[in-house]
Amino acid sequence: MVASHEQTLTPGYVSIRDGRITRVADTCESCNLFFEQAAILPSLINAHTHLEFSDLEKPIAAGDSFPDWIGRVVAYRRQQLDASTDVVDARRRAAIQQGLRESFKTGTGLLADIVTPPWSPDYLQFAADRPRADLLEYFGGILDQNKAASASPQHPLVIALPEIIGMERERLKASLDWAEGLNTPPPDEHKQVLKSLGISPHSPYTIDFSTFTRADQQPAIREPVAMHLAESVEELQWLRERRGPFADAFQRLGVQPPDQLPSIQECLQFLAKYRSLIVHGNYLTMEQMRWIGDHRNLSVVYCPRTHSYFGHAPYPLQEMQNSGIRVVLGTDSRASSPDLNMWSELRHLRKCQPWMSPNQALKIATTASADALGCSADVGCIATGKLAFLSIAKLQPQEQPGELLERISLEETEINNLADLFDSSDS
Ligand SMILES: [Zn+2]
Repeated sequence: MVASHEQTLTPGYVSIRDGRITRVADTCESCNLFFEQAAILPSLINAHTHLEFSDLEKPIAAGDSFPDWIGRVVAYRRQQLDASTDVVDARRRAAIQQGLRESFKTGTGLLADIVTPPWSPDYLQFAADRPRADLLEYFGGILDQNKAASASPQHPLVIALPEIIGMERERLKASLDWAEGLNTPPPDEHKQVLKSLGISPHSPYTIDFSTFTRADQQPAIREPVAMHLAESVEELQWLRERRGPFADAFQRLGVQPPDQLPSIQECLQFLAKYRSLIVHGNYLTMEQMRWIGDHRNLSVVYCPRTHSYFGHAPYPLQEMQNSGIRVVLGTDSRASSPDLNMWSELRHLRKCQPWMSPNQALKIATTASADALGCSADVGCIATGKLAFLSIAKLQPQEQPGELLERISLEETEINNLADLFDSSDS
């Protein structure tokens, strides 16, 4: 069976060549692999994460206020960076690779990752785990020869978004220079994990926004752009009144905030010049939502488990969608989420938003995300010409596609990456 929010085929067959889908049909012509008890699903897209925290076993304590948590995250990062260059490098590389492996294994094909120094595209080198013959058996797979099947991509893709930070001009400039110096290596579809580079001005409370926007002609500004925005009530209070827990935190840290702070609307206006992701947007007003809905190059990333972790006000997902906003799904990092499994994120989404159908939930984690990131030519659905990022789930006896999507989007279910079933070494 092939099951996605766009089409279901029972039986369904997918042909793959050189990592791309060459045929999707309900008849099997010249295919050499069958699954008798499984459904092929599109892999999911994680539109917001910070892989550098992927070695955390559990999230960092939320604390009394949002700036409290940020303070703890910054302290953790400092501690990680407080070692020789080689050690820091190895630690960072290992954390990122751990996050990539976890994501790929659990059925994520593409990730938008916020990166901070030190970082280099070769941190993303991906070594797939050994294929699991037991999985082939588990899913009732019958294999003639594994060549065609093993040609599905053996690594995920990453859109890296260098994080720009700096309340003070000097710091901001150094951050922009660092981002500008990062380059994408020449493309090699089979090996290269880095798909493209965008940029992430971190948030309105961590950058000198007016200096940053004056720099917007700089080569460092590459799409997609992602910014944490309207995430906490503390942020809104800081931007409106220059008071509250953020003011206290800056004073404690001896940080000199810029004279002028932006409004949420000013940030939105900047983001609307590009293909941009508004990360979280937990506290956007109705008016702002309508404005975003009128700008199709803007999307909002909802991270359901992180949202619940901080105990924010109920997420206005229905209002956003009614305003015409393209909402997409992310895990955020292991600093606020128990893991990087996008299917678990999707299940939590359905729990928090029970009005949503499995098809609607699947859409925001696949085709909508591909559109938001400007990657719909390559990823997002099971169709001819797309990269074969495919996952697989076990079917129950007589299960229909609708029942399957309902079940796997509500109940804990093992969903594997198709790539995990085959040995690519001889392909
Ligand atoms: Zn984030």
